[in-house]
Amino acid sequence: TGAPDTPLRVENLRKEFGGITAVDGATFAVERGSLTGLIGPNGAGKSTTFNCITGVHDPTAGNVYFEGEDITGLRPDQIANEGLVRTFQIARELEEMTVLENMMLAPRGQLGESLYRSVTPGLRSGVREQEEELRERVWETLELFEIDHLAEEEAGNLSGGQRKLLEMARVLMTDPEMVLLDEPLAGVNPSLEKKLLERVHELRDEGYTFLLVEHDMDVIMNNCEHIIVMHQGQVLAEGDASDIRSNDQVIEAYLGE
Ligand code: ADP
Ligand code: MG
Repeated sequence: TGAPDTPLRVENLRKEFGGITAVDGATFAVERGSLTGLIGPNGAGKSTTFNCITGVHDPTAGNVYFEGEDITGLRPDQIANEGLVRTFQIARELEEMTVLENMMLAPRGQLGESLYRSVTPGLRSGVREQEEELRERVWETLELFEIDHLAEEEAGNLSGGQRKLLEMARVLMTDPEMVLLDEPLAGVNPSLEKKLLERVHELRDEGYTFLLVEHDMDVIMNNCEHIIVMHQGQVLAEGDASDIRSNDQVIEAYLGE
Protein backbone atom coordinates (compact mmCIF):
# COMPACT_ATOMS: atom_id res chain seq x y z
CA THR A 1 0.00 0.00 0.00
CA GLY A 2 1.05 3.61 -0.50
CA ALA A 3 3.44 5.15 -2.99
CA PRO A 4 6.78 3.50 -3.70
CA ASP A 5 9.71 4.78 -1.68
CA THR A 6 11.81 6.67 -4.20
CA PRO A 7 14.83 8.60 -2.91
CA LEU A 8 15.62 9.94 -6.40
CA ARG A 9 13.05 11.54 -8.70
CA VAL A 10 13.79 13.23 -11.99
CA GLU A 11 10.94 15.28 -13.47
CA ASN A 12 10.72 16.68 -17.00
CA LEU A 13 14.47 17.07 -17.12
CA ARG A 14 15.74 19.04 -20.08
CA LYS A 15 19.28 19.99 -21.07
CA GLU A 16 20.24 21.92 -24.16
CA PHE A 17 23.75 22.63 -25.37
CA GLY A 18 23.44 25.47 -27.87
CA GLY A 19 21.10 24.03 -30.49
CA ILE A 20 21.43 20.43 -29.29
CA THR A 21 18.81 18.96 -26.98
CA ALA A 22 20.69 16.27 -25.06
CA VAL A 23 17.87 15.54 -22.59
CA ASP A 24 14.33 16.20 -23.74
CA GLY A 25 11.89 15.94 -20.84
CA ALA A 26 13.07 12.81 -19.03
CA THR A 27 10.98 11.67 -16.05
CA PHE A 28 11.80 8.68 -13.85
CA ALA A 29 12.26 7.59 -10.24
CA VAL A 30 14.58 5.16 -8.47
CA GLU A 31 13.28 2.91 -5.70
CA ARG A 32 15.08 2.67 -2.38
CA GLY A 33 17.34 -0.35 -2.01
CA SER A 34 17.21 -1.12 -5.72
CA LEU A 35 19.90 -1.64 -8.29
CA THR A 36 18.35 0.31 -11.14
CA GLY A 37 19.91 0.44 -14.59
CA LEU A 38 19.84 3.32 -17.06
CA ILE A 39 20.60 2.24 -20.62
CA GLY A 40 20.20 3.55 -24.12
CA PRO A 41 22.10 3.75 -27.39
CA ASN A 42 25.01 6.13 -27.83
CA GLY A 43 23.90 9.74 -27.62
CA ALA A 44 20.64 8.88 -25.82
CA GLY A 45 21.38 11.41 -23.07
CA LYS A 46 22.48 9.08 -20.26
CA SER A 47 25.66 10.91 -19.28
CA THR A 48 23.98 14.30 -19.52
CA THR A 49 21.16 13.09 -17.28
CA PHE A 50 23.75 11.75 -14.84
CA ASN A 51 25.58 15.07 -14.90
CA CYS A 52 22.37 17.01 -14.29
CA ILE A 53 21.50 14.79 -11.32
CA THR A 54 24.95 15.21 -9.75
CA GLY A 55 25.23 18.96 -10.26
CA VAL A 56 27.89 18.89 -12.97
CA HIS A 57 25.42 20.50 -15.40
CA ASP A 58 22.66 22.96 -14.64
CA PRO A 59 19.49 21.64 -16.31
CA THR A 60 17.79 23.94 -18.82
CA ALA A 61 14.43 22.93 -17.29
CA GLY A 62 12.93 20.33 -15.01
CA ASN A 63 13.75 19.17 -11.49
CA VAL A 64 15.78 16.64 -9.58
CA TYR A 65 14.54 15.60 -6.13
CA PHE A 66 16.56 13.64 -3.62
CA GLU A 67 14.82 12.43 -0.45
CA GLY A 68 11.97 14.78 -1.30
CA GLU A 69 14.22 17.81 -1.46
CA ASP A 70 14.68 19.82 -4.66
CA ILE A 71 18.40 19.55 -5.41
CA THR A 72 18.20 21.04 -8.92
CA GLY A 73 21.15 23.31 -9.59
CA LEU A 74 23.05 22.54 -6.37
CA ARG A 75 26.82 22.12 -6.60
CA PRO A 76 28.28 18.59 -6.79
CA ASP A 77 29.73 18.83 -3.27
CA GLN A 78 26.37 19.99 -1.87
CA ILE A 79 24.61 17.07 -3.55
CA ALA A 80 27.26 14.64 -2.29
CA ASN A 81 26.74 16.02 1.19
CA GLU A 82 23.04 15.10 0.91
CA GLY A 83 24.18 11.49 0.45
CA LEU A 84 23.87 11.23 -3.34
CA VAL A 85 27.38 10.36 -4.48
CA ARG A 86 28.84 9.43 -7.86
CA THR A 87 31.98 7.51 -8.59
CA PHE A 88 34.66 9.96 -9.45
CA GLN A 89 37.84 9.57 -11.42
CA ILE A 90 41.10 9.57 -9.55
CA ALA A 91 42.33 13.10 -10.17
CA ARG A 92 45.74 13.61 -11.71
CA GLU A 93 47.19 15.00 -8.50
CA LEU A 94 46.06 11.91 -6.61
CA GLU A 95 47.74 9.50 -9.02
CA GLU A 96 51.05 10.04 -7.28
CA MET A 97 49.55 9.25 -3.91
CA THR A 98 49.15 5.73 -2.61
CA VAL A 99 45.87 3.85 -2.52
CA LEU A 100 45.87 4.30 1.26
CA GLU A 101 46.36 8.07 0.98
CA ASN A 102 43.61 8.26 -1.64
CA MET A 103 41.25 6.49 0.74
CA MET A 104 42.15 8.72 3.67
CA LEU A 105 41.44 11.80 1.54
CA ALA A 106 38.23 10.49 -0.04
CA PRO A 107 35.66 12.07 2.30
CA ARG A 108 37.42 15.42 1.97
CA GLY A 109 37.80 15.17 -1.80
CA GLN A 110 34.15 14.50 -2.46
CA LEU A 111 32.46 16.55 0.23
CA GLY A 112 34.73 19.59 0.42
CA GLU A 113 37.06 20.62 3.22
CA SER A 114 34.49 22.15 5.60
CA LEU A 115 32.01 19.32 5.22
CA TYR A 116 34.77 16.78 5.74
CA ARG A 117 35.29 18.24 9.19
CA SER A 118 31.60 18.04 10.01
CA VAL A 119 31.17 14.44 8.83
CA THR A 120 34.26 13.16 10.56
CA PRO A 121 32.94 12.25 14.01
CA GLY A 122 36.33 12.11 15.67
CA LEU A 123 36.93 15.85 16.00
CA ARG A 124 35.08 15.90 19.27
CA SER A 125 37.17 13.05 20.56
CA GLY A 126 40.49 14.48 19.40
CA VAL A 127 42.54 14.38 16.26
CA ARG A 128 44.38 11.19 17.15
CA GLU A 129 41.25 9.13 17.70
CA GLN A 130 39.68 10.62 14.62
CA GLU A 131 42.64 9.54 12.53
CA GLU A 132 42.49 6.07 14.09
CA GLU A 133 38.75 5.64 13.32
CA LEU A 134 39.24 6.80 9.77
CA ARG A 135 42.20 4.46 9.27
CA GLU A 136 40.18 1.52 10.57
CA ARG A 137 37.34 2.24 8.14
CA VAL A 138 39.79 2.65 5.29
CA TRP A 139 41.25 -0.82 5.90
CA GLU A 140 37.82 -2.44 6.28
CA THR A 141 36.76 -0.90 2.97
CA LEU A 142 39.99 -1.88 1.19
CA GLU A 143 39.45 -5.45 2.38
CA LEU A 144 35.85 -5.42 1.19
CA PHE A 145 37.06 -4.58 -2.31
CA GLU A 146 40.05 -6.93 -2.02
CA ILE A 147 42.55 -4.18 -2.77
CA ASP A 148 44.16 -4.03 0.68
CA HIS A 149 47.31 -5.64 -0.75
CA LEU A 150 47.63 -2.55 -2.99
CA ALA A 151 47.49 -0.05 -0.11
CA GLU A 152 51.04 1.19 -0.61
CA GLU A 153 50.83 1.23 -4.42
CA GLU A 154 50.60 4.59 -6.18
CA ALA A 155 47.09 5.03 -7.60
CA GLY A 156 48.60 5.90 -10.97
CA ASN A 157 50.11 2.40 -11.20
CA LEU A 158 46.80 0.54 -10.82
CA SER A 159 45.15 -1.23 -13.74
CA GLY A 160 41.92 0.23 -15.11
CA GLY A 161 39.88 -2.32 -13.19
CA GLN A 162 41.73 -1.82 -9.92
CA ARG A 163 41.09 1.91 -10.29
CA LYS A 164 37.36 1.27 -10.59
CA LEU A 165 37.48 -0.76 -7.37
CA LEU A 166 39.36 2.08 -5.68
CA GLU A 167 36.79 4.60 -6.96
CA MET A 168 33.97 2.53 -5.49
CA ALA A 169 35.87 2.13 -2.23
CA ARG A 170 36.41 5.90 -2.05
CA VAL A 171 32.71 6.54 -2.65
CA LEU A 172 31.83 4.33 0.33
CA MET A 173 34.14 6.40 2.52
CA THR A 174 31.72 9.33 2.11
CA ASP A 175 28.80 7.46 3.77
CA PRO A 176 26.47 7.71 0.78
CA GLU A 177 22.78 6.84 0.79
CA MET A 178 22.63 6.43 -2.94
CA VAL A 179 25.44 5.76 -5.40
CA LEU A 180 25.47 6.71 -9.08
CA LEU A 181 27.78 4.71 -11.31
CA ASP A 182 28.55 5.87 -14.86
CA GLU A 183 29.97 2.99 -16.89
CA PRO A 184 31.80 1.49 -13.90
CA LEU A 185 32.85 -1.56 -15.91
CA ALA A 186 34.44 0.17 -18.88
CA GLY A 187 37.95 -1.25 -19.25
CA VAL A 188 37.53 -3.71 -16.39
CA ASN A 189 38.67 -7.31 -16.94
CA PRO A 190 36.12 -10.12 -16.38
CA SER A 191 37.40 -11.25 -12.96
CA LEU A 192 37.42 -7.71 -11.55
CA GLU A 193 34.05 -7.05 -13.20
CA LYS A 194 32.63 -10.02 -11.32
CA LYS A 195 34.15 -8.78 -8.07
CA LEU A 196 32.82 -5.25 -8.54
CA LEU A 197 29.31 -6.47 -9.35
CA GLU A 198 29.35 -8.82 -6.33
CA ARG A 199 30.22 -5.88 -4.07
CA VAL A 200 27.43 -3.80 -5.61
CA HIS A 201 24.93 -6.61 -4.99
CA GLU A 202 26.09 -7.00 -1.37
CA LEU A 203 25.82 -3.28 -0.74
CA ARG A 204 22.38 -3.19 -2.36
CA ASP A 205 21.31 -6.01 -0.03
CA GLU A 206 22.52 -3.88 2.89
CA GLY A 207 20.15 -1.12 1.80
CA TYR A 208 22.19 1.14 -0.45
CA THR A 209 20.44 2.38 -3.59
CA PHE A 210 22.27 2.26 -6.93
CA LEU A 211 21.68 3.84 -10.30
CA LEU A 212 23.95 2.21 -12.83
CA VAL A 213 24.50 3.83 -16.22
CA GLU A 214 25.92 1.42 -18.79
CA HIS A 215 26.24 1.17 -22.51
CA ASP A 216 26.53 -2.63 -22.22
CA MET A 217 22.97 -3.94 -22.26
CA ASP A 218 23.89 -7.43 -21.01
CA VAL A 219 25.45 -6.11 -17.80
CA ILE A 220 22.27 -4.21 -17.02
CA MET A 221 19.96 -7.08 -18.01
CA ASN A 222 21.85 -9.54 -15.80
CA ASN A 223 22.19 -7.34 -12.73
CA CYS A 224 19.41 -4.76 -12.47
CA GLU A 225 15.91 -5.54 -11.20
CA HIS A 226 14.57 -2.34 -12.74
CA ILE A 227 15.68 -0.86 -16.03
CA ILE A 228 15.06 2.55 -17.56
CA VAL A 229 15.72 2.91 -21.28
CA MET A 230 16.55 6.33 -22.71
CA HIS A 231 16.41 7.25 -26.37
CA GLN A 232 16.81 10.69 -27.94
CA GLY A 233 16.78 12.39 -24.55
CA GLN A 234 13.58 10.77 -23.34
CA VAL A 235 12.55 7.72 -21.34
CA LEU A 236 11.49 5.19 -23.96
CA ALA A 237 10.62 2.26 -21.67
CA GLU A 238 10.86 0.97 -18.10
CA GLY A 239 10.57 -2.44 -16.53
CA ASP A 240 12.45 -5.61 -15.64
CA ALA A 241 14.80 -7.41 -18.01
CA SER A 242 12.09 -9.48 -19.67
CA ASP A 243 9.88 -6.40 -20.22
CA ILE A 244 12.76 -4.57 -21.83
CA ARG A 245 13.93 -7.54 -23.94
CA SER A 246 10.49 -7.93 -25.46
CA ASN A 247 9.87 -4.22 -26.05
CA ASP A 248 9.73 -3.55 -29.80
CA GLN A 249 10.55 0.16 -29.42
CA VAL A 250 13.70 -0.71 -27.46
CA ILE A 251 14.80 -3.26 -30.03
CA GLU A 252 14.25 -0.72 -32.78
CA ALA A 253 16.19 2.00 -30.94
CA TYR A 254 19.20 -0.29 -30.55
CA LEU A 255 19.03 -1.59 -34.12
CA GLY A 256 19.35 1.98 -35.35
CA GLU A 257 22.83 2.28 -33.81
P1 ADP B 1 24.99 9.09 -23.81
O1 ADP B 1 25.73 9.19 -22.53
O2 ADP B 1 23.67 8.41 -23.71
O3 ADP B 1 25.81 8.45 -24.91
P2 ADP B 1 25.18 11.99 -23.87
O4 ADP B 1 24.40 12.48 -22.71
O5 ADP B 1 26.65 11.95 -23.73
O6 ADP B 1 24.63 10.57 -24.33
O7 ADP B 1 24.88 12.89 -25.13
C1 ADP B 1 23.54 13.20 -25.57
C2 ADP B 1 23.63 14.18 -26.73
O8 ADP B 1 24.10 15.44 -26.25
C3 ADP B 1 24.59 13.76 -27.84
O9 ADP B 1 24.03 14.18 -29.06
C4 ADP B 1 25.82 14.54 -27.50
O10 ADP B 1 26.58 14.78 -28.66
C5 ADP B 1 25.27 15.82 -26.91
N1 ADP B 1 26.17 16.42 -25.90
C6 ADP B 1 26.53 15.86 -24.73
N2 ADP B 1 27.33 16.69 -24.04
C7 ADP B 1 27.46 17.82 -24.81
C8 ADP B 1 28.17 19.06 -24.64
N3 ADP B 1 28.88 19.31 -23.55
N4 ADP B 1 28.07 19.98 -25.64
C9 ADP B 1 27.34 19.72 -26.73
N5 ADP B 1 26.65 18.59 -26.94
C10 ADP B 1 26.71 17.64 -26.00
MG1 MG C 1 27.63 8.46 -21.93
